[in-house]
Amino acid sequence: MATGATSAEQTGAEENHGPEAVERTKREAAGAGDQKPGQRAEMSNLDIVRFYFDRAVERLELADDIRTVFWEPYREVTVQIPIKRADGQIHVFSGYRIQHNGARGPYKGGVRFHPEVDIDEVRALASLMTWKTAVANVPFGGAKGGVNCPAGEMERSELQSVARSFMDKIEKVLGPTRDIPAPDVNTDAQTMAWMMDEYGKLHGHTPAICTGKPIALEGSWGREQATGRGCVFMFREAAPQIGISPAESTFVVQGYGNVGSWAARIMQQLGSKMVGASDATGAIRSDGGIDADELAGHLREGGKLTEFPGAEVISPDDLLAIECDVLIPAALGGMIHEGNADRIGARVIIEGANSPTTPAADAILHDKDVHVIPDVMANAGGVVASYFEWVQNLQHFRWTEREVNDKLGGIMRRAYRDVSARAKEEQIPLREAAYVVGIERVVEASRTRGYV
Ligand code: NAD
Repeated sequence: MATGATSAEQTGAEENHGPEAVERTKREAAGAGDQKPGQRAEMSNLDIVRFYFDRAVERLELADDIRTVFWEPYREVTVQIPIKRADGQIHVFSGYRIQHNGARGPYKGGVRFHPEVDIDEVRALASLMTWKTAVANVPFGGAKGGVNCPAGEMERSELQSVARSFMDKIEKVLGPTRDIPAPDVNTDAQTMAWMMDEYGKLHGHTPAICTGKPIALEGSWGREQATGRGCVFMFREAAPQIGISPAESTFVVQGYGNVGSWAARIMQQLGSKMVGASDATGAIRSDGGIDADELAGHLREGGKLTEFPGAEVISPDDLLAIECDVLIPAALGGMIHEGNADRIGARVIIEGANSPTTPAADAILHDKDVHVIPDVMANAGGVVASYFEWVQNLQHFRWTEREVNDKLGGIMRRAYRDVSARAKEEQIPLREAAYVVGIERVVEASRTRGYV
């Protein structure tokens, strides 16, 4: 499964993961403390996304009734997932699939297994997907799913039970032309394979039901790397504008999982040097450089990030303060908040994670002249490659990795240029411009269909 431990591990959640234990883990995760790998923000992910949405709506002067349509999700499904775990007891988890808006195409969005998952978090992530698919200009709407299970502590067979049970419960609202899940935190190609297989039992072999599948099951070359690669395409667009030479740059990654580790490995291919990294277990730094491939290999083989040879163990907050060119937050939401934004030592932030930055932190970063490439465009590479995988699945035809990467580059560059042109035209930050562009496209599609 995904690299590293979950916050359940770092908060020391106990053996029993019934609803009470899950609630306790969430409360513990919400309390700030110096020893924790991440600080929680002053506002929820849903409030963060809605704040940015409202600011763009104001700029677009959208009427209140139209705003209301996009404020709420179109459909919310909550299901019970009872799993008999290795301890012989039934543990009951909650699963959510939320479809925010489908004006531009089938709903699309990842599935997260994490004890902090709750309905508001999934609402936030679903609406972010609506604006993201629109900014990238791929023909999808926005959705998200999640199960509040402690994935990092579960056995593979238990995770398989969660994935299959979740699919069983939500399959009625899914379909290759309705809603197509993908991996997110603590889910991966294997999870998608189980979900596809479960869907196939009811509907026949349907590879286009989810993306991010293994290559052996009609997954796409390049999908696993795509979100990280997309972040790097964004950096390459931004670098000349801010006078950074990628080959001479340094970077830090917060959250060395799928997105973070691939962004790091591809940054390194440009000649950039990683000087700090973290995951749920802790943080490390080395001014001489941390080899991104070797760190990924070390974690793949079961090593702990904090035991990576040659690097100094530091506190997660000190990671953010490292003087470098680029910080890539690639963990959870709300990690950069009003309590730590002032300490950020990077000149550029590329938001690999969803909602890593609160509005208060965003304002502080703006004052510090930090160039922020926001989640809604920066991490769209995953959904773009998912779009390619879906297209290949519908045709039962496979593209080469080169084709995928080239096409991904084309779309990411276009997204950056569309948004930065709008930002320049209206003299606004990239985040506001991205929301403006995304919302405008969704409203146009909704109007053209006659929804609004
Ligand atoms: P992942 O599970 O592979 O990796 C998450 C990483 O974050 C792990 O290394 C984990 O240990 C680390 N982490 C968790 N809590 C942490 C903490 N408190 N401090 C530091 N590190 C911590 O998940 P992923 O798929 O790489 O997703 C990471 C982020 O990127 C999420 O916000 C996700 O929504 C977003 N995202 C993912 C994709 C995708 O294609 N996978 C696409 C777009 C956005």
